[in-house]
Amino acid sequence: MTSGSTLDAPADDPLHLQRLGRDPAFAAWVRRNVRPHRRPGYAIVTLSTKHQDQAPGDLSAARMQAIARWADDYSFGEVRVTQRQNPVLAQVRRTDLHALWCQAAAAGLATPNVGLLTDIVACPGGDYCSLANARSIPLTHAIQARFADQDLLERLGDLVVNCSGCMNGCAHHQLADIGIRGIDKQGAEYYQFGLGGSHGEETRFGIVIGPAVPAAEVPAALERLLSAYLAQRRVGEPFAATLQRIGSQPFATAAYGARERDPRPAPESLLPNKKQFSRK
Ligand code: SF4
Repeated sequence: MTSGSTLDAPADDPLHLQRLGRDPAFAAWVRRNVRPHRRPGYAIVTLSTKHQDQAPGDLSAARMQAIARWADDYSFGEVRVTQRQNPVLAQVRRTDLHALWCQAAAAGLATPNVGLLTDIVACPGGDYCSLANARSIPLTHAIQARFADQDLLERLGDLVVNCSGCMNGCAHHQLADIGIRGIDKQGAEYYQFGLGGSHGEETRFGIVIGPAVPAAEVPAALERLLSAYLAQRRVGEPFAATLQRIGSQPFATAAYGARERDPRPAPESLLPNKKQFSRK
């Protein structure tokens, strides 16, 4: 979901190129969170709710009021809420992009990760849902922390990762490049990986690649799986295309093959004795 070249040199805003060159954070946001509008002089802005400090899709009252103000000031009073758990201001003048970015960044809604791995869709999971087998939000935060390196995220490129707390699949884990589904094994939280799901013109369910792993092992297993992708992909090849070309076995081998050798400690929030929710 990167912006097109029309945003790189808007003829109606001579300051835009200067700002892009002067401010790398603004440039990263424009590259990731802003898309061209079919009407010249306008752009589509996605406000990211995906950050380690908040549950995906959660918005406080203050943030919602801020978004309502920005909609009035910059987008003809309109804001759209998307399945990807990010609000969208669909018609922003390109001349207003920098002013909007300044305010969105101050409000914590300008993480430049739209379409990247950390833009995870997660259901409420065991923290809030009485049907859950496992929590989704702490796992999402642990993955976001593990993949905090923006350069690595950009190398991985567009990637759909969805995490559901049970088989009901409210986060549409079955339709993601990488779907993660919570499972209860004798009271402990485990998670399955499914690969190759897609929605849109080529809708298909992902295929589960192996046994569920304990919560604490998921971020490391995901990292190994994605290292296999980086090692195997051709130049510019999206994850789904690599998966179709080589099949799921290399990813499964990577994800499960080196579990005992991972040197980094598991996030405390995912340790088995931290399971706090109770099923009703
Ligand atoms: S996927 Fe399961 S745990 Fe998540 S919100 Fe839906 S029913 Fe609840």
